[in-house]
Amino acid sequence: MAQIRTVDLTKTFPDAAGGVTALDALSLTVEDGEFFALLGPSGCGKTTLLRTLAGLETPTSGAVHIGTADVTHTPPGKRGVAMVFQDYALFPHMTVTENIAYPLRVRGVPKARQREAVLAAASELGLTGTETTLGLLDRRPGALSGGQQQRVALARATAADPTVFLFDEPLSNLDARLRLEARTFLKRLQRELATTTVFVTHDQAEALALADRIAVMQSGRIRQLGTPREVYRRPANIFVASFIGSTPMNLLEGTVRDGRVLVADSEIALPHGTAERVAERAEVVLGARPEYFRVSADPLEGAFRGTVAVAENLGSSLLLTLDVAGTAVQVVVGEDDEPEPGATLWALPRQDRTLLYADGELVG
Ligand code: ATP
Repeated sequence: MAQIRTVDLTKTFPDAAGGVTALDALSLTVEDGEFFALLGPSGCGKTTLLRTLAGLETPTSGAVHIGTADVTHTPPGKRGVAMVFQDYALFPHMTVTENIAYPLRVRGVPKARQREAVLAAASELGLTGTETTLGLLDRRPGALSGGQQQRVALARATAADPTVFLFDEPLSNLDARLRLEARTFLKRLQRELATTTVFVTHDQAEALALADRIAVMQSGRIRQLGTPREVYRRPANIFVASFIGSTPMNLLEGTVRDGRVLVADSEIALPHGTAERVAERAEVVLGARPEYFRVSADPLEGAFRGTVAVAENLGSSLLLTLDVAGTAVQVVVGEDDEPEPGATLWALPRQDRTLLYADGELVG
């Protein structure tokens, strides 16, 4: 069992102003075998949390449990964790083989067993040669591409046979195409090994694609914890709503009036099940993802009426920015539906996909 549990984890760093709270009484449980992403903007405390799990930072207060043990004061080498860093942290003077074997060597694992583990991990990660290509095992990191270095770092982590993997943005140094490839590869590897994994990223698309569950962090706290589908479909607050989604969600201020929301001089139906939960004249925010609109050149009842200000090509679709009485509303339409600039369109948000926020929190 390698469940990870933090209890009221707090980490304060001293600074000129008296202290930065990087983690603020943070409690969370990562289940055995889970692929768990820590997601959030720069400075929200992701790396500090990961380093605290690894034992590279000592918490100011609170506890870390791995499996059944309280490891809060256990040194990094004795926690059964393997960490892969953003820059891979390979030893430049060692060959690939020596790099992969390093954690086993310091643990005093016998030579023959080291060799077996290195070969198994290297072959799993495609570092050994085939009939037509030479393997990479005798090269030094300086003679490897970014993607190859990343595989060596992963091989070093898997050869150590840890109970927990900790990944700190391991894909961030790869170019866009390689990054997608490495992402799929990482997911397959984690599935095969079924090792509990905590993964830090500031890239929401990466977290959505890889994780079983995501913790979205802000200022040392978790603002939402859920499956990718949950955080995408039902962001618990405006912070998460604005952070998740490759085209940002429309977050439109409005007022509740007669079972509808008055937004930018349009009257939009309240999301399903929210009518009983908001007061008449309440100031609210309507959340609607650009993907969930019906768009028409003919009038639609209960829709936004706007003029096309900008059309951006997303490849297989177009992102239109409509000017709705001075408010920008973004909608996605098919690639063949490019309207003339300035054309008038009606955009009807799908009622079962719109969300209502009051005081920054999800009403429904
Ligand atoms: P990024 O995505 O930029 O790496 P992050 O979410 O990983 O950010 P952390 O690196 O955990 O954020 O930092 C959280 C906060 O703690 C920040 O305000 C940071 O400046 C501060 N911090 C982190 N490490 C230290 C340190 N060693 N000394 C002082 N302050 C630190």
